[in-house]
Amino acid sequence: MSRPLPAPTDVRFEAADPVFKSYILGNAQMECLAEGFRWIEGPVWMGDWNCLLFEDIPRNRTMMWREAEGVSVWREPSDYSNGLARDRQGRLIACSHRGRCITRTEHDGSVTLLADRFEGKRLNAPNDVVVKGDGTIWFTDPLYGILSDYEGGRQEIEQPPALYRFDPRDGSLQSMSRDFDGPNGLAFSPDERRLYVSETGDQRQENPVQVLRVFDVSPDGALSNLRDFYKVEPGYTDGLAVDTDGNIWSSAEDGVHCISPEGKLLGRIFTPALVSNLCFGGSPYRNRLFLGVSHSLYAVYLNRRGARWPG
Ligand code: MG
Repeated sequence: MSRPLPAPTDVRFEAADPVFKSYILGNAQMECLAEGFRWIEGPVWMGDWNCLLFEDIPRNRTMMWREAEGVSVWREPSDYSNGLARDRQGRLIACSHRGRCITRTEHDGSVTLLADRFEGKRLNAPNDVVVKGDGTIWFTDPLYGILSDYEGGRQEIEQPPALYRFDPRDGSLQSMSRDFDGPNGLAFSPDERRLYVSETGDQRQENPVQVLRVFDVSPDGALSNLRDFYKVEPGYTDGLAVDTDGNIWSSAEDGVHCISPEGKLLGRIFTPALVSNLCFGGSPYRNRLFLGVSHSLYAVYLNRRGARWPG
């Protein structure tokens, strides 16, 4: 793929709260870094490699973007992977639709299967993943990836949609919640006392619910007090990112919504198409927001920093 030139777009910000204006840099503009993908997902910043990895799921490829070189194929086939994260040792964790599993890419490049079954039945299509400070790997397992042949192949549903925690220390997989129709993006608050999960609903229904929900997280990782946190309008809600103040940056149909820890809309960044997923990156400040905007990769510098390790 040849390198497309970054093209500034007419980015529009809308402050719903005055504080949001301080998050915007005076002359920063939305840059289109690359185009021509089918469906971008799973962006993760690799600070030590100084690059972004992301998925083009229907093409079955993991892509790499670097400021100097633009876009290249990093891994093909990708086993129709979706969400990506790094563990505490910097290894890549991936959600595979077709493999119905989560994997870890070791430092030598080999791929280790971490989990593909719960109580003897296959997972559905792991969607998104984060790594907690204690090294446990949390991921969502909705149905989306096995409902069509576009993102890995239609397959039989064997599990209810669920949120899981995998512990690499003993290889155990624990179901943490089945209270979602379509658990999707997820993110811990900076202090890890909260876990945000986007509910993208049952896409086989008309007008599926689109809401961010939140759990309280106890020091041992137990979840409690699940409640609605923010209704994403216009929905579609998918990936999430969190900044150092605990604001949540959520994908939405009209772009990105920035939401305070109290659940208040602070502002929006409008994009030309819906946002699938997003992450903070850029070395060393993590002050650049990378956006999967349906078929295109965008980025914008902000006067914000992503919360520590972008797990
Ligand atoms: Mg997702």
